[in-house]
Amino acid sequence: MQPKQNIMHLPVYQPGKPIEDVKRELGLDDVIKLASNENPIGYSPKAKAAMLDEIDRLNIYPDGASVELTAVLAKKLGVAENQLIFGTGSSDIILMICRAYLTSADETVMADETFSQYKHNCEVENAKIVEVPLKEGKHDLDAMLEAVNERTKVLWICNPNNPTGTIVEHEELVQFLTKVPGHVLVVLDEAYCEYVTDEQYTDGTKLLEQFPNLVVLRTFSKVYGLAANRIGYGIGAAPVIRAINQVREPFNTGRLAQVAAKASLLDDEFLTRSRAANSAGRDYLHAQFDRMGLQYFEGHGNFIMVDVRTPSMQIFDRLLRKGIIIRAGWKHYPNSIRVSVGNEEQNAKFIQALEEVLTELAVLQ
Ligand SMILES: *Cc1c(COP(=O)(O)O)cnc(C)c1O
Repeated sequence: MQPKQNIMHLPVYQPGKPIEDVKRELGLDDVIKLASNENPIGYSPKAKAAMLDEIDRLNIYPDGASVELTAVLAKKLGVAENQLIFGTGSSDIILMICRAYLTSADETVMADETFSQYKHNCEVENAKIVEVPLKEGKHDLDAMLEAVNERTKVLWICNPNNPTGTIVEHEELVQFLTKVPGHVLVVLDEAYCEYVTDEQYTDGTKLLEQFPNLVVLRTFSKVYGLAANRIGYGIGAAPVIRAINQVREPFNTGRLAQVAAKASLLDDEFLTRSRAANSAGRDYLHAQFDRMGLQYFEGHGNFIMVDVRTPSMQIFDRLLRKGIIIRAGWKHYPNSIRVSVGNEEQNAKFIQALEEVLTELAVLQ
């Protein structure tokens, strides 16, 4: 037996280290995970009530078309119902886009570095991947445009970009979309859009009418705090959504995920509270990095990439021994770590531990 040649070299995804593993391996009682950009507040109590209400119906298949959730979201976004598609997280939408659009004859353009799942799924379809280095942590849109040719099918923009946290601003995005040829599907991943407070940021859904080759991705895993429930969505022109729907598994979102997502969309209070807590935590971390004289990319989501002037895996190991899990090991940023914005106590503990580690290593005096 031989699997497809083009998947043989693919690594199995390494998630952020689970808290339970770290506790067991290091004999620690108190472990903080600031590695996967999860919501430290939890999720909407209305979503919890909705799931409890649904719990006795798990023997019945879910609504494959997510009819009720679609109606609520379409109204909220001001789009037609046939412009929406749901997935098992937005990762599932990424997978479906690749499945629907890419073959070994096609090319795809993405930033380097960006969210790893674009490249992964494009490799599964054996498309030619053209990676365009970031410029000062930001998407280099001019270079990305130059990388487009007649074989380019899909182009990926992560806004804010994971892992650097930088944004593409409204004006540059519109200029860019105006120049991208119509045969290229532009995927705008807005997994962290709800956290952005910068006025130059743009809401991709407002550009859909002008650019029918644009598809926007969103998720309930981040600000809505439903990472374990696995639900996200795509918004685009009806023909694009139809194509993606053609490769969708019939029941790719579960009952609990659908009702929790719907209730979350109707809970503005939770969203406002999550955003405010994140902004305060982000400001605190930025200020602490300034105080320590560390360089960082200003975070626009709920995470920050900071240069610790030391090989990042070394910092990862030392923080881990103090019970703090962060992300490290970025190819182009070997001396940087990515830390999620936690709650007040977690952020303070992280800063204290980082300061201790960097002092031990004589990076800080
Ligand atoms: C977390 C994340 C996602 C969403 O993942 P889900 O599959 O919805 O949990 C998508 N894109 C980026 C850039 C992310 O960081």
